[in-house]
Amino acid sequence: MKIECIRTHHLRCHLDKPFGFSQWFYDQRNVLVIEIVTDSGVSGWGECYGPADVIQSAVEKFYAPRIIGMDAINTDAIWQFMWRASLDFARGGVMMAAMSGIDMALWDAKGKSLGLSVSELMGGRQRDVVPCYATGMYYLDLPEDELLPLLVEEGVGYANEGFKAMKIKVGKNPDFDEKFIYALREALPNTELMADSNHAFDLPEAIRIGRALDACKYGWFEEPVSPQHPHFFKQLHEKIDVPIATGECEQTRWGYQKLIENGGVQLLQADLAYCGGPSEALKIRTLASTHGINMIPHVWGTQLNLAAATHFLASAYHEPGRAEPRDLLLEYDRTENPLRDELYSEMVEVKKGQATVPTAPGLGVTIDRNALKTFDINGTETR
Ligand code: MG
Repeated sequence: MKIECIRTHHLRCHLDKPFGFSQWFYDQRNVLVIEIVTDSGVSGWGECYGPADVIQSAVEKFYAPRIIGMDAINTDAIWQFMWRASLDFARGGVMMAAMSGIDMALWDAKGKSLGLSVSELMGGRQRDVVPCYATGMYYLDLPEDELLPLLVEEGVGYANEGFKAMKIKVGKNPDFDEKFIYALREALPNTELMADSNHAFDLPEAIRIGRALDACKYGWFEEPVSPQHPHFFKQLHEKIDVPIATGECEQTRWGYQKLIENGGVQLLQADLAYCGGPSEALKIRTLASTHGINMIPHVWGTQLNLAAATHFLASAYHEPGRAEPRDLLLEYDRTENPLRDELYSEMVEVKKGQATVPTAPGLGVTIDRNALKTFDINGTETR
């Protein structure tokens, strides 16, 4: 199953209603999708998390010419080859995002050629359905007294759809954040709630917000502080009870090893479209388990990454094992994204807050070629 051709597709869509979080507002969505065609007639698809145009260049100019002709079945061997090819100047960043999308596409192709789903390739499904949490409640450009009730209403809407867990954004400013944390808990006393600041806080602010999350029994505090200051996690953990989750800005087993060594983090959140791909995510999961902690993927993007994360969680075990383990939750982004909702003819089915694990060979989601054309603003092909 020799790699014959690698295509990249920079997909873009503009949003009806811009939305924001602690760092910026989105008015469009972009993603780089990779298509690997083999001489056996099988194609694999993957996606990358990060700046699509820059990653596209890394795939087209650097990795694709080097791996044409290799056997797509050899996912780990190709990963190792790509890693060594760029090791001296790119042990992370957008080059690793490029490797991640290529790796994801290779897993898809491998599954299709063997007639196995990615969760079977990852060691086998432990569950056919994965519970999801809704990610939403982003900011709108409104005065805070108008915004707050809308966010709470949005959260109640997810609960009414059947989501038993959901994640809010914090990091707008600590006064607003506290009000929001309390208001949502009051509206949803029995829902599992989490909060994500996207590294918005300094240490004293993170302690203040962490105490509000403690008081309202939130399930985790995500990216409370900057990934540039990993030693803050341990200091924060000593002051608050809510578990600390982080890792969507981190990559490779070596990156997570440092994160774990610094202490204070209870949940790792590698993104399979950025951390090094499914191959590396499995190694990060193994690393996490050796330290007695869990890894659940960060998911932001289209159906390919959602499917990869669903297979990853279908094959996951909870550390430590027990008869009634805690759910390892799949992140299900509910913000507007036509690239997730209008690009595919076969998608991951999510109903009442539960994702059904695809059983078709490979990732089990299918891009509609006609839809692809409508979103494709720049394509490349390497043979
Ligand atoms: Mg996050």
